[in-house]
Amino acid sequence: GQNSAHDYLKGLNPEQRLAVETTEGPVLVLAGAGTGKTRVLTTRIAHILATGRAFPSQILAVTFTNKAAREMKQRIGHLIGEGNVEGMPWLGTFHSIGVKLLRRHAELAGLKSDFTILDTDDVVRLIKQLIQAEGLDDKRWPAKTFAQMLDNWKNKGLGPDEIPEGDARSFGNGKGRQLYKAYQERLQTLNSCDFGDLLYHPIRIFRAYPDVLKEYHRKFKYILVDEYQDTNTAQYMWLRLLAQRPNVRAASAEGRKPDRASAGQAAPAEASERSERAAVSENKVNICCVGDDDQSIYGWRGAEVDNILRFDKDFPGATIIRLERNYRSTAHILGAASHLIAHNEGRFGKTLFTDRDDPEDDKVHVHASWDSEEEARAIGDAIEAYQRQKHNLNDMAILVRASFQMRAFEDRFITLGLSYRVIGGPRFYERLEIRDALAFFRVVANGGDDLAFERIVNVPKRGLGEATIRQIHDTARAMRVPMLEAAATLAESDELKPKPRAALREVAANFERWQKALETTPHTELAETILEESGYTDMWKNDRSADSPGRLENLKELIRSMEEYESLRSFLEHVALVMEAEQGESLDAVSIMTLHSAKGLEFETVFLPGWEEGLFPHQRALDEGGRSGLEEERRLAYVGLTRAKKNLHIWFVSNRLIHGLWQSTIPSRFLDELPETHVDVADGGNSYGGYGNPYGGGAFASGRGGGRQNPYGASRFDNIGAKDQGSFSNTYATPGWQRAQANRTEATDRNWGTRSG
Ligand code: ATP
Ligand code: MG
Repeated sequence: GQNSAHDYLKGLNPEQRLAVETTEGPVLVLAGAGTGKTRVLTTRIAHILATGRAFPSQILAVTFTNKAAREMKQRIGHLIGEGNVEGMPWLGTFHSIGVKLLRRHAELAGLKSDFTILDTDDVVRLIKQLIQAEGLDDKRWPAKTFAQMLDNWKNKGLGPDEIPEGDARSFGNGKGRQLYKAYQERLQTLNSCDFGDLLYHPIRIFRAYPDVLKEYHRKFKYILVDEYQDTNTAQYMWLRLLAQRPNVRAASAEGRKPDRASAGQAAPAEASERSERAAVSENKVNICCVGDDDQSIYGWRGAEVDNILRFDKDFPGATIIRLERNYRSTAHILGAASHLIAHNEGRFGKTLFTDRDDPEDDKVHVHASWDSEEEARAIGDAIEAYQRQKHNLNDMAILVRASFQMRAFEDRFITLGLSYRVIGGPRFYERLEIRDALAFFRVVANGGDDLAFERIVNVPKRGLGEATIRQIHDTARAMRVPMLEAAATLAESDELKPKPRAALREVAANFERWQKALETTPHTELAETILEESGYTDMWKNDRSADSPGRLENLKELIRSMEEYESLRSFLEHVALVMEAEQGESLDAVSIMTLHSAKGLEFETVFLPGWEEGLFPHQRALDEGGRSGLEEERRLAYVGLTRAKKNLHIWFVSNRLIHGLWQSTIPSRFLDELPETHVDVADGGNSYGGYGNPYGGGAFASGRGGGRQNPYGASRFDNIGAKDQGSFSNTYATPGWQRAQANRTEATDRNWGTRSG
């Protein structure tokens, strides 16, 4: 048609083009990774703007991250000129759009438009007060648990009167509902809301005030949603409210004319074509969602993959478009990913193909390492090798399953002087629990470290309030001694009330004992003792929020990493240096992130470390989720594999610290699910020298029918590969770490004398 004049449409394949040009009515693009879904959305917005179908302020576009929103805005700018994209106020994440809506209508939720958004800490503190006000024991009924429940309810769009009776009764001697109400009232008086409210309030407002909703029906001429497979129930409700118009005729008749006054632009071209189209499509809603059921990875946070599968029921007459050509990855990468995901049941099922067929393309590399340090070393080496071949660091990424894995890479890259950035979270040593733990160690190593002392004197909570801490300060200044010493003095005086005095006495005694032990106890053992005796580990064990297991893993990783150092002091010195290292934004740097935050992104070269049973698939997912937990892990693996454009390296190690113990690990079952034709495990005699290694990589090698010299690996891996998937066991005669010690040098030589590139 006449649109062929538009440059931005060039290069789209026919299905993509259909998805872009079917602007009226509901459209679902259901397609695999790298098929151009996000590109379709971006081009569609460009098309809507360029053809004058709507002004920027009339398009509601939802992305999964703020970063994705920024990128989308940029790309639209590239397609149709920067000037035309300004003022796309409704392009963002569900939450960022939610805030904007709520500020506009705050009073309808009992708030003022300058309300504050509470963070998790604030929320927990507030709930605790309410629990105590109800006369409940906040030890028996932890505030964190209730915060989690609240979040679940809000993610489902449930108000206090709608929560299931069982839920309401299960908390606080049947006071769940009452607490929920009290909590919402308290937020109102504080002129505050929590994260969940950013969607929950707008949903309530839309339901209670049809006029307000109608205003948005008129306003948003086009709705677009990326990563639709990961919407949760509340997000889904919110979208449906905005997209489904009971009074369609009236709404769309008014909606025909773009709102010229507000946009302040000249009349859009093709106005007549537009009104024709509008006449045809009066009963339809212009919503376009794109997604991939195989990439649904937020089930654990309440996402409902069913939302995407029932799209055509929600929006009758929907055009459903499949994209099958993958533009991102080589045939090997795509082949490996498709084969892996085919192991999931209950899929929608898709075909994917690529036209790329370059015999030069590398297969997917699988490598083995002895342990995580060697893995980090090997990946660091591989990155440097790519760099020598003129690859940019920006084009490389390391995607981990669990954030504790990042530590080894960060340490290694600092040593190498290799720039890296951690995406979607703080760097390892900057994490809350790590900073806390380090503060304990610093005071033990140096009793004069007041900053560290202040950080942890009341962690976990010992009832040492600000007044007491000020008193310690004053005493320290008067006596000209460090705070720790001042605290010890105060603990023996009668200046304090009995309770804080007893608490301080314990703190002082603890540090005295630990400082003594510094001379006699191995430092890793001491570090563990400190975290236990201080109650710090227990604090996180008793914490039922979703991130506490991860924090405990990080703490174990911290202790483990100390083994590399001779003493507590030399370790702390190393950390201080690592903390100093700059994290530049615009720099050419390798990205390190979790698989979860890599969704939607792509890199020339991708490294996927830690493919071992228990880590990936993660034990927690297996324990909690049964088959569905495993399938979500497999989708996560699919997401990981499909991030790579050209080079893909998967790693597994033979020994890893699991639950605080060195264990022989079993290569991930996902490795077995990769097709041999696209995978290269042995070739090159390089980093996969594990073949010859009697302990390490041989496990995987023998699983492929290679040599069976491996006394530990061979049968193990065969079992997994075959049918025995239910019964993994990590118990072997020799503890992994002993072998790790005994064979460290040997393994190092075998695996790392040469390297892959
Ligand atoms: P994911 O499921 O991972 O989010 P996606 O389906 O959103 O993937 P995109 O990120 O939009 O895929 O596209 C993948 C890559 O393919 C991008 O680099 C994009 O620019 C490119 N691409 C998409 N369509 C085409 C096309 N018609 N011609 C050339 N390149 C294309
Ligand atoms: Mg995408």
